Amino acid sequence: MTISAVSPSPDIAARDAADALATYRAQFTLPDGVIYLDGNSLGALPRDTPARVAQVMHDEWGTGLIRSWNSADWIGAPQRVGAKIARLVGAEAHEVVVADSTSVNLYKLIVAALGAQRGQPVVLSEPGNFPTDLYMVETAITTLGTGHRLELAPREEIVSRITEDTALVMLTHVHYKTADMFDMAAITAAAQAKGALVLWDLSHSAGAVPLALNACRADMAVGCGYKFLNGGPGAPAFLFVAERHHAALRSPLGGWMGHARPFAFVDEYEPAPGIARFLCGTPPILAVAALESGVDLHLSVDMQQVAVKSRALCELFIDLVEARCASYGVTLVGPRRGAPRGSHVSFRHADGYAIMQALIARGVIGDFRAPDIMRFGITPLYLRFADIAAAVDVLEDVLRTEAWRASAHQVRHAVT
Ligand SMILES: *Cc1c(COP(=O)(O)O)cnc(C)c1O
Repeated sequence: MTISAVSPSPDIAARDAADALATYRAQFTLPDGVIYLDGNSLGALPRDTPARVAQVMHDEWGTGLIRSWNSADWIGAPQRVGAKIARLVGAEAHEVVVADSTSVNLYKLIVAALGAQRGQPVVLSEPGNFPTDLYMVETAITTLGTGHRLELAPREEIVSRITEDTALVMLTHVHYKTADMFDMAAITAAAQAKGALVLWDLSHSAGAVPLALNACRADMAVGCGYKFLNGGPGAPAFLFVAERHHAALRSPLGGWMGHARPFAFVDEYEPAPGIARFLCGTPPILAVAALESGVDLHLSVDMQQVAVKSRALCELFIDLVEARCASYGVTLVGPRRGAPRGSHVSFRHADGYAIMQALIARGVIGDFRAPDIMRFGITPLYLRFADIAAAVDVLEDVLRTEAWRASAHQVRHAVT
């Protein structure tokens, strides 16, 4: 059974006909015969990105050469694209900058926070947070050698575990496996009441759910460029620091791009006064151009409409899978109908890896997160209700026929 074998029911077709975001699908380049349910891991290619990158390559690099640092404002690109992302996350233009990877930005902000927080030994996070987030805390603590320690508390206990000893609370806003979403305002307020700072990882939030960093009085955040922002594989990440913290927080990676006057070429390091102090080295201009194209696409989008459609697509998917696939041992992980959630849906199955391989072989692309989670990204800008229904048709077929038992689907790839 292939994904185009069945035409959608009248009910599903009516939902697509009434979809206020339907026109956005044409803004992406999507291969035929694929239902792409992995935009939470690598966002799809925006239609305008190849021409944008080609223009930067040919005109700005090929013709402009070194002059383009000024004439094409390459030097301002981290702040320019950061200002655009700021609009998507509810921050001021001068509070967000594009730089490095999410991992490196975490490191910079963890160390900056611990340097500013004297005498509080604890970094608080949750077990099962995205691995790089926890690894970055561990390695930052080891490198600093200042006696800090990482404590992990289940998400329901986070607020009660924040004490006067807590220097930093570091959490991923939308959980990468389950799509559970923290209450950013409530946790931020609870942490600040005890004198702690909060660092939010927005990797599965930016471009996926409405965000209001300043309305939540957020201190710091990082986020990913290649997931829901459609910036391309390995796209640069971004970081946010609330203006009130700019003077006190210092990056441990004092590269020249974060200097107050990079082109004064002086021997002594002096951090830039604003968000630019969190830059380190020269920005990857071709990659920033691809990211800017993805971000530009999002600037015209009404995030409330995205949230409404995301919820509708997620709940349709959950309802159909539970009705038709539960008997094969597929169980929902994460929020149920009505609960706060991000824009992906995960199901648990002991043979989830092989099932996902069988789905991918039929053009339904999701991913697998060890030990047993099949994860499906629900991206409202290019998914139709009919895609969700068709994906469940294929999933049910794979389970009913046990197509996943084929030996080809048992082979573990490096990237799952
Ligand atoms: C995807 C993701 C990252 C990725 O970090 P990289 O440095 O880009 O590899 C980090 N944290 C979370 C929560 C993620 O989902």
